[in-house]
Amino acid sequence: MDKHKGNLFILSAPSGAGKSTLYKALLSQDKQVRISISHTTRAPRTGEENGREYYFIDDESFLDMIAEDAFFEHAQVFDNYYGTSKESIFEMLEQGLDVILEIDWQGARQIRQIYPEAIGIFILPPSLHALEERLKSRATDTEDVIQRRMAKAVNEMSHYHEYDFVIVNDDFDAALSQMASIFMAMRAKTPVMQEKNSNLINDLLSL
Ligand code: 5GP
Repeated sequence: MDKHKGNLFILSAPSGAGKSTLYKALLSQDKQVRISISHTTRAPRTGEENGREYYFIDDESFLDMIAEDAFFEHAQVFDNYYGTSKESIFEMLEQGLDVILEIDWQGARQIRQIYPEAIGIFILPPSLHALEERLKSRATDTEDVIQRRMAKAVNEMSHYHEYDFVIVNDDFDAALSQMASIFMAMRAKTPVMQEKNSNLINDLLSL
């Protein structure tokens, strides 16, 4: 796969860890960062907009895109398909933008195989109790549903060590500043600088 000017980030967390609040804050303070918008065959939920949360398409269009090899990765979750299109991310990376893929550990494994340069960040909640409180405050679900969500969250968290960075989202500002620092530091890595500043480097070495 070609080298790109921007970095590809994989962001994973159990639901309830505050992942979306964090990346939204990062997006608003760092104009060099973009979030990848996936395609899905599931129906939009109330308040969701096509092209904002997802590109909502039908099964047939999704299968056509698979056949055209248009996906970087895709998966079936319950009865629906989800996928990240190549076009949506490579264009941005080529422009030197950093792109975040918000994806679970299984998707992350697929991405690492096809794009080993991807940088993984895992967000952990400060405690199981805090996670449970956040899952509870989301909806008026039964105890049973909440316990199932907790079990799913623990399963997701058990993969934290597959990531390059781990952030504990205890103090929000501290977590945001850690995340921003990771993005900044990754931009200064030598291969990224070489790709971005090839003219400058040639100039500097041409005496
Ligand atoms: P939801 O329907 O609640 O928005 O998402 C359901 C699941 O699909 C979540 O676990 C989410 O991380 C996953 N998902 C969303 N987009 C993608 C994608 O592009 N690829 C993969 N593999 N999973 C995705």
